[in-house]
Amino acid sequence: MALAPMATVRDTGPCMSTVETSSNLLQQLDYSVLQQCIHCGLCLPTCPTYDATKNETSSPRGRIALMRAVADGKLSADSPKFSEEMYFCLGCLACETVCPANVQYHEMLEMARAVVSRPNFLMRLLFCSPRRLKVAAKLLRFYQISGLRRLISALLPRKLRELDAMQPEISAKFSRKLIAEHEVPRGKSPKFRVGLLVGCIQDVAFADVNRDTVDVLLRNGCEVFTPRGQVCCGSLLGHLGDLDAARELSRKNAEIFGVESLDAVIVNVAGCGSFMKHDGNFAGKVRDVSEFLMEIGIEPPKISQKLRVTYQEACHLAHGQKIFDAPRALLRAIPNVELVEMKESTWCCGSAGIYNITHREMAAELLERKLKNIGATGAEVVATGNAGCMLQLRAGVRARGMGVEVVHAVSLLARAYRLESER
Ligand code: SF4
Ligand code: SF4
Repeated sequence: MALAPMATVRDTGPCMSTVETSSNLLQQLDYSVLQQCIHCGLCLPTCPTYDATKNETSSPRGRIALMRAVADGKLSADSPKFSEEMYFCLGCLACETVCPANVQYHEMLEMARAVVSRPNFLMRLLFCSPRRLKVAAKLLRFYQISGLRRLISALLPRKLRELDAMQPEISAKFSRKLIAEHEVPRGKSPKFRVGLLVGCIQDVAFADVNRDTVDVLLRNGCEVFTPRGQVCCGSLLGHLGDLDAARELSRKNAEIFGVESLDAVIVNVAGCGSFMKHDGNFAGKVRDVSEFLMEIGIEPPKISQKLRVTYQEACHLAHGQKIFDAPRALLRAIPNVELVEMKESTWCCGSAGIYNITHREMAAELLERKLKNIGATGAEVVATGNAGCMLQLRAGVRARGMGVEVVHAVSLLARAYRLESER
């Protein structure tokens, strides 16, 4: 897509560049992109915010019309309605999947959010520096395991207590402690050389999923390089309209990974993978872990626990990367796993970055709908492919005492391999 040069950026330190003028990024978009929508309305039934409100302005078509009005100078970018709608949108991209005109909604949304947002320096402070994020995560873990959380949350009003329940459970050890920078398959020569993105929240709250990913890759003949100096991929900041910081992080990671020497850069968080694929710094080498494993062909485990599993499609895997079959094929490759499809598996669970914090009511409605569909399958396990979905679903099943385990699909495969090697 043709983009006019970005606004002038003044560098004031790592990830602390400031935008001199973002006058109207929407006006810098190739105008034909804004004209691509043919107003057919096919996207309307797939849009959760339209479904909830039945308001045209809360639909993909309505939002595109608002963006066009801003680009044409007919609506001020400062108008509260514009900003509200750009953030009421979940960014789930369900509208892109069904659009017959191939409207690149994600690019327009990114630009529109950049127009209405000012950089959030607290978010930058945390997500531009893995060191700072880890310090914050350690403090949070202390709060969680020291008894302080039980004490404080009992005193909180209901709304804050609900927010408290949404926080990620911080891992006892982060990825660095669980994964060596360079690991090779035992007893055989590697067939592929891959890099692993450890992520930001993934690194501190789902380090076990990163370890599982490495184990599965090693078992399938990959040499795994997990560079120490890597940073957050930038997707969370990009999602909030802070494109300058997001691009800076992405460029830094591309350099650190040295993508030209790798067969693939493996990502196990759908939101990160979607952002990195669209961003273009990685020479087309970014692969979701399920996508890569299916491409190279995995060695199926010989045994596994008998499990009834349902699959929740992360929006940024399904709609953002158009990956529907690979995670299912991965799950079907595990013996004794019965895969039961849930109704509306591609409907957003309400996590959507920090949407479950900024739009609590709408996120809660979506979660309720998702849990109902999960419950109807009778599954003991929900497998998914995104940290945000795991957090949202875990909080939901815990609050309702559903007794359902929420895991990353790759973790189920890793467990089966482990069981096999223990016998
Ligand atoms: S499906 Fe595509 S072309 Fe049709 S209204 Fe929605 S965005 Fe526009
Ligand atoms: S990204 Fe999702 S919420 Fe936003 S307009 Fe598209 S379908 Fe609706």
